Amino acid sequence: MELNILVVCYLIGSITFIVGLKMLSNPASARKGNLIAAGGMGIAILGTIFLYEEDGSRLGNYGWIFSALLLGSIVGTLMAKRVKMTAMPEMVSLFNGMGGACAALISVIEFRHMLHVGVDQTSLLIILLGLIIGSVSFSGSMIAWGKLNGRVKDFAFQGQHIINLVILVLNLAIAGYLMIAGPAAVPLFFYLIIFLSLLYGVFFVLPIGGADMPVVISLLNSFTGVAAACGGFLYNNKVMLTGGILVGAAGTLLTILMCKAMNRSLKNVLIGSFGGKKSVSASQGPQGGTYKELSLSDAAMVMSYATKVMIVPGYGLAVAQAQHVCHELEKTLESKGVEVKYAIHPVAGRMPGHMNVLLAEADVSYDKLLEMEQANEEFKTTDVVLVLGANDVVNPAAKTDPSSPIYGMPILEVEEAKLIIVNKRSMKPGYAGIENQLFFQPKTSMLFGDAKKALQDLLAEVRNI
Ligand code: NDP
Repeated sequence: MELNILVVCYLIGSITFIVGLKMLSNPASARKGNLIAAGGMGIAILGTIFLYEEDGSRLGNYGWIFSALLLGSIVGTLMAKRVKMTAMPEMVSLFNGMGGACAALISVIEFRHMLHVGVDQTSLLIILLGLIIGSVSFSGSMIAWGKLNGRVKDFAFQGQHIINLVILVLNLAIAGYLMIAGPAAVPLFFYLIIFLSLLYGVFFVLPIGGADMPVVISLLNSFTGVAAACGGFLYNNKVMLTGGILVGAAGTLLTILMCKAMNRSLKNVLIGSFGGKKSVSASQGPQGGTYKELSLSDAAMVMSYATKVMIVPGYGLAVAQAQHVCHELEKTLESKGVEVKYAIHPVAGRMPGHMNVLLAEADVSYDKLLEMEQANEEFKTTDVVLVLGANDVVNPAAKTDPSSPIYGMPILEVEEAKLIIVNKRSMKPGYAGIENQLFFQPKTSMLFGDAKKALQDLLAEVRNI
């Protein structure tokens, strides 16, 4: 009877993961979806702790288990509450690394167990797979975390890809040997596999350039999912298996979508070091000619008398936390009869869906957000484009300059509109470190200042018209 209750707990867990994931695809339902999936996970965890039985005995060790749960919950809650929206990718990377480490630790424990109770080839294969993938995901995610918060710098040397390949092949060969000769032959080899996998994770992520980090993070995410699914196989635990497969599949799909958004192949991302080579440093300053500025009152005037205004949000909007005042401006313009929409680039900001989440937080209606293809159609009929803290995603060099590191990446073609107003604090480049010719075009005017302050002042001017 109790076993059946446990199966029902796992079923609830699996269903809530799927429902939660579906709800995550829309900003309006994402928060609820996350809570539903977390609730299902909670039920599955408590079910395992209290109802799981092996050889007629329960888990026990409740003191240890609940101390760890309490500690983890406190640390997780504090981190989630304190993290800034712009530091979310770092946190995702850190948590992903922890998932990989857990999967690898499961393999270590089960390997040691196997040495005592006897070898089963299928389990050994899964243990080795979980170990390799989990360890790569752990060390790779730690490097990604360090790179995103600026503590670790891009690093590549001649022949690095060959060395990576050698490490990978050597690792697989040792794992193959353990499969054939049995784990008891050279148990030390098992620990060598951990070392080589960790090393591979480090070397794999170190050379990847800044702008490609989102792709790598979602790839590492899918690795962790697969490693967790290995744990599910090992323990014949359906909810762990379902969760792992969902994370693995979602991470893989996201990786493919991000590559498409940048118009690059995964191979090119992994060995290309795009965005790592900065062609213009911030200190070099602009080299593209002269730009013109416009005053707040002029900006307010052209926007108030426009028929259609398109707002292009970028990383700077998130840094300034200006999403709420941006929504106020949108409502005020609409009250004056102006049609206002948002053009969303898939890699604007610093994480997938960053702008959608940011604008949803300010209650911007989801149907006002246009995807890139649709926005590019509509720029032709737009009077004013207001670029708020975005740079790379509106850089025409992606279309016109084959030597540019972002060449080939689809961009928001804002220059199709009648007038472009760009708000940023200076002429410094964006994430890819390259100059933006858009700022020097005759149709473009710069509105310098922190996005929040500039929008507050602009809003006051618009209200006075
Ligand atoms: P960019 O990083 O290209 O540009 C952001 C601009 O915002 C900067 O030029 C900066 O200029 C300006 N800015 C910064 N702070 C403020 C502020 N307080 N107020 C006003 N402006 C500000 O951002 P985009 O969104 O255009 O492009 C995203 C880039 O990040 C792409 O290259 C993408 O590949 C990469 N990336 C994307 C990830 C994702 O998953 N979405 C993850 C990691 C990287 P100034 O200093 O002059 O103010």
